[in-house]
Amino acid sequence: MRYWIETLGCPKNQVDSDKLGGLLVSQGYDAAENADEADLVVVNTCAFIEAAREESIETVLALAEQKDRGARLVVTGCMAERYGDELRDALPEVDLVAGFGDSLLGTQRVQIGAKKKVPSFDLLNLPRPTTSVPWAYIKIAEGCDRRCGFCAIPTFRGDQRSRTNAEILEEARALVRGGVKEIVLIAQDLASWGHDRRRGGRGEAVEVLDEGGTQPLIALTKALSSEVERVRLLYLYPSGLTTGLIEAILDTGVHYFDLSLQHASRPLLKKMRRWGDGDRFLERIGAIRDMAPDAAFRSSFILGYPGETEDDQRALLAFIEAAQLDWAGFFTFSKEEGTPANDANQQVPHELALERLREVSETQDAITARKRDLLIGTTQRLLVDAPGVARSQRECPEIDGIIRVPRDLAVGSLIDCVITKSHGTDLEARLA
Ligand code: SF4
Repeated sequence: MRYWIETLGCPKNQVDSDKLGGLLVSQGYDAAENADEADLVVVNTCAFIEAAREESIETVLALAEQKDRGARLVVTGCMAERYGDELRDALPEVDLVAGFGDSLLGTQRVQIGAKKKVPSFDLLNLPRPTTSVPWAYIKIAEGCDRRCGFCAIPTFRGDQRSRTNAEILEEARALVRGGVKEIVLIAQDLASWGHDRRRGGRGEAVEVLDEGGTQPLIALTKALSSEVERVRLLYLYPSGLTTGLIEAILDTGVHYFDLSLQHASRPLLKKMRRWGDGDRFLERIGAIRDMAPDAAFRSSFILGYPGETEDDQRALLAFIEAAQLDWAGFFTFSKEEGTPANDANQQVPHELALERLREVSETQDAITARKRDLLIGTTQRLLVDAPGVARSQRECPEIDGIIRVPRDLAVGSLIDCVITKSHGTDLEARLA
């Protein structure tokens, strides 16, 4: 029996797919070369925003056409969890709609408390197959204790449940034995990892995390960096970026900061129910650059959140100019059921949100290109991901640009190269 898994959405979904693949292999399945050869076709969906949901449905319909007539078609992931009943009614082509950890996996769902049905098991601690690339994501927690105004994730992923140090280290060691050189830690709110365990269960999000080196993620980052060449941390909520955590990140040698900022205007961030403002963000970014001038920064921003004004847009543009981030993603606001922003007054017309998005994107594209040009002539330590494709510490896999290198460099090797050309986001390099 052979399986095919089609994964949509974010890196967190990719980890779930890897683990689902590992489980199917342990149950006697082999991976198929493509979907039409598989006996079991799984679509791991994304429900983050409207566009992602549309892409998920289109993928399900396309695979229903493409798959062998006798093959089973299963839909799982966020969309199955969030809109299971609607999907069952609307997609007769689908054999099974299964939420996280549902019957597809032979596991049982457990309710957390009596508050709301959420998956407590997920796929977090399942084994995963060896990877063909020299890097891997590790999901260290599921769910989120925050309640940002635009985000539906806590409504269907639940409150944060952190894995233990031991579980994460065990997974990391297995990946390293399989040839992994870079581990990318992910969670909905990475900087808060471990706080639910510390409190002995669920609780409120920690608004500003403790300075003084007791943040659990600091110890985990240190422990992992002694096991693997590179450790990279994604999705850091800005109030969680303590001095201790900054130092721990810099000590890993990967001077990369993925900050979840969403906007820079204080009034709008307040409406979004989020911490911080442009000045505080700039202060942290400046402090990091003082410690490590080569630090690279990424963030993402929402345009068109309800109540967004021209003043807010000016504040964001000024921030983008001042911050000089290496990478940034921009998204227009998407109304999500169950979130405060869904019913908020002062919705911004989509066209206006798009116009604002284009304005900040143009500004950022020029900054990114300029920063990439500045790397020409520098020597960077590159990890070869695939024949002819590598990355320095400045590029996160699958998210940022890449560096073209000679095709004969061994995949998985870490090699010093000189950057020779820049093409906007991507670079070229030769051996140093
Ligand atoms: S921190 Fe991230 S996952 Fe948590 S509610 Fe906010 S946007 Fe959603």
